Amino acid sequence: MNQKTDLSSMTLAKLTEYVTGTLGEPRFRAGQIYTWLHQKQVVSFGEMTNLSAALRSRLEEEAFITRPTVRRELRSRLDGTVKYLFEMPDGNCVESVLMQYHHGPSLCISTQVGCRMGCRFCASTLGGKVRDLTPGEMLGEVYEAQRQSGKPISTLVLMGIGEPLDNFDNVMDFLEILSSPQGQNLSLRHVSLSTCGLVDNIRRLAEKKLGLTLSVSLHASDDATRSEIMPVNNRYKIGQLMEACREYFAITGRRISYEYALIDGVNDGPAQARGLLKLLEGQNCHVNLIPVNPVAERGTRRSSREAVERFRRMLEEGGLSATVRRELGSDISAACGQLRRQEAAGAGERTQKPVETTGRPGPEE
Ligand code: SAH
Repeated sequence: MNQKTDLSSMTLAKLTEYVTGTLGEPRFRAGQIYTWLHQKQVVSFGEMTNLSAALRSRLEEEAFITRPTVRRELRSRLDGTVKYLFEMPDGNCVESVLMQYHHGPSLCISTQVGCRMGCRFCASTLGGKVRDLTPGEMLGEVYEAQRQSGKPISTLVLMGIGEPLDNFDNVMDFLEILSSPQGQNLSLRHVSLSTCGLVDNIRRLAEKKLGLTLSVSLHASDDATRSEIMPVNNRYKIGQLMEACREYFAITGRRISYEYALIDGVNDGPAQARGLLKLLEGQNCHVNLIPVNPVAERGTRRSSREAVERFRRMLEEGGLSATVRRELGSDISAACGQLRRQEAAGAGERTQKPVETTGRPGPEE
């Protein structure tokens, strides 16, 4: 069968191989096409005006460029945060969130359609994993969010739907293309990758010495609690995870950022704070405290303001650097992954619905 080739997912090396091998064209053509795709970020071969008409029409027949379309757009009235529901060519949807910070726009992207990690408090994992996103689809989230907003992003976080280290090779190619000088040229110093703790792949990532910030979703300091809320802990225990994190720091020199979602009555007590202090003792790291976003199907409750503050203070008094994450876009939010699910549930009525912009209060507030 004649399947079209996805050019937007190819690193420059892979594209060069395709152009010189499969197409039998000179090597410099690969550089031209790559620049069109990743620097100028065009969406069709017709726009590649320095290629011959014959080559353009051959590409049209044999290859394609991935670019998601905006299925829905929710815009916060509180702080300008924009949530995009992006539809991929096969009809699958993922979410990306564009936030405005003092240092510039920051984009949070998805790495998979759904997720198979099963964290009990998370909406993204409710329907399991549908499939991995390709490098071109992840790049498409970035390029399209920038095109929509009219501004280049200054930071990127891989913290949307999916587990980036469960889609390792595609994420690595995505980062290579994104940071390449002939492409968007985004320094990986401005990228954070968040993982639920796939130990083997944390080690593989460390070896690549990419300079990005690794965020580790810890959420508990003892195995019993963590296994209850994060099934991945049955595969890799906290001790193994900490060992990999220490190694990561030793190899890369980059301090790890730990994510800790505070869930009422589950992981927000003084004993848990003391456990966390003990666990992270001597590590050069930062702890991000996130009052959990309640997900209707999950039945988890957010910790009270007092519990969050007490937890933070205990960490700080124990010498850990800890901050409570500022909540952006709370009026449009619905915890990450919820918009995609709402859309799937109402898919019948919504298929032809135009892009909408709302400031409607979300379900939590
Ligand atoms: N799979 C990766 C990245 C995606 S999740 C990971 O686990 O890190 C991004 C972050 O959001 C993780 O820290 C995750 O634990 C957290 N998260 C998921 N659902 C949440 C919720 N309902 N409230 C607060 N944080 C949540």
